[in-house]
Amino acid sequence: MRKLDKLEPNRFFYYFEELTKIPHGSYNVDAISDYLASFGRSHGLETIQDEYKNVIIIKEASQGYENEPPIIIQGHMDMVAVHKPELDIDMKTEPLKVAINEAEDYVYAEGTSLGGDDGFAVATALALLEDESLKHPRLEVVITTNEETGMEGAFGIDLSMLKGHTLLNLDSEDEGIFLTSCAGGLRINADLPVKVESWDHLKGFTCYEIEIGGLLGGHSGEEIVKGRANSNKLAARLLKGYSNSVYLTMLEGGLADNAIPRTTKFSVLVEDESNFEAYLDKFTKDVRNEYHTKDPDLFCKVLSRKPVSEIRDSIDTVVNATEAIKFLYTVPDGVQAMSADVEGLVETSLNLGIVKLSSDSASLHATFSVRSSIESAKSDLTNRVCLLADTYGGKVKITGRYPGWAYRADSPLRDRMCALYEKMYGKKPILKAIHAGLECGLFNNKISDLDCVSIGPDMKEIHTTEEKLYISSSRRVYEFVRALIESK
Ligand SMILES: [Zn+2]
Repeated sequence: MRKLDKLEPNRFFYYFEELTKIPHGSYNVDAISDYLASFGRSHGLETIQDEYKNVIIIKEASQGYENEPPIIIQGHMDMVAVHKPELDIDMKTEPLKVAINEAEDYVYAEGTSLGGDDGFAVATALALLEDESLKHPRLEVVITTNEETGMEGAFGIDLSMLKGHTLLNLDSEDEGIFLTSCAGGLRINADLPVKVESWDHLKGFTCYEIEIGGLLGGHSGEEIVKGRANSNKLAARLLKGYSNSVYLTMLEGGLADNAIPRTTKFSVLVEDESNFEAYLDKFTKDVRNEYHTKDPDLFCKVLSRKPVSEIRDSIDTVVNATEAIKFLYTVPDGVQAMSADVEGLVETSLNLGIVKLSSDSASLHATFSVRSSIESAKSDLTNRVCLLADTYGGKVKITGRYPGWAYRADSPLRDRMCALYEKMYGKKPILKAIHAGLECGLFNNKISDLDCVSIGPDMKEIHTTEEKLYISSSRRVYEFVRALIESK
């Protein structure tokens, strides 16, 4: 029995429910890709399924729309497949149990994520492609794979057969908000040399194991604007501030390049205990004062304190990390520039996400996530970090590059959408730009002079087992897309 039968738009929810029957977590996209390709072919439409399992379906213009510019409708077919730990389900092979919460007007899946992100785009595209009453220019539907794991489908896709330069991305989660720009990014992996030190120099020293923690952290794209503390930067500041020579047996902080680090631990050798403890007290007071609003639970605590004579048998190596710490201390971090075009938007930023001392390779590893909506600003910042690493004898590798999508002052698509939105709903949409990556950035890089806007219906708690897709909102956004296609 179908669960979403009575919902409108009927064909949209029909396809949405079909998708929930086909397991389609990232990297498990063969079946859904085949489903989409066979939909295209069985409807007599030009269909391309490439080596990445991306699917492109083209429907030529209807009568009277032959001279209108083609529209590209775009989204991704994969979802973040997660389930409640107590639910016994194999999300690689079993369908979702889709359900409706009528009182609160949303669709969800029992015990699992729903895939509203980005099933909305896929179901919208299929329902519109089969709609013979729709008047439309040439429609170019592009459904990518593995967006959630790094936009791999969009990276690999060949779009040379497309004729459109106007793209509507349907991968947003707030009705009434039109996204008009996103950041591009890359990862800087730096290795700074440290010197293995002889224990003989450090006989009378004491080893302090210290933790800087209690920080709020957050996503290095969306939350960098909040100016929260970075525990890796604080650790470098603490160490650089105390002594001209920094001896470490351990340093480790952060979990991912794109997460603002919340905890950093290190073991430092110091000569004068009381001097160091007085310094530590003052340091802690100072930084707690600086961050008392942004990071109220910040702490800096001594986990252990042992004389070198007690630890030297249990620890292989002590290193002099003075130059590497100078690098971590002086390297920029956080927001570097705000946009002058879009209020409140971070234009360029970086995050020192991970630091780790490796005694084996006598090096200190540091990973940064760099973002900017302006390509040249991203390169400039990257060059500065690389030059600084080089100054301290470090080596740098750049990985994970993805292009940004800069705000277009002149966007006929955005103007047309704003006018239509106001006509249909009696209010203006909100224009927004985000400091994180979207597939639009990759499309912008592959299609010349691309005019692009990203929209979507209200969704909540995507990527979790509480994911919700709102019904009336889906209906309105679907109708808006339909009307946009028919508008001239
Ligand atoms: Zn998505």
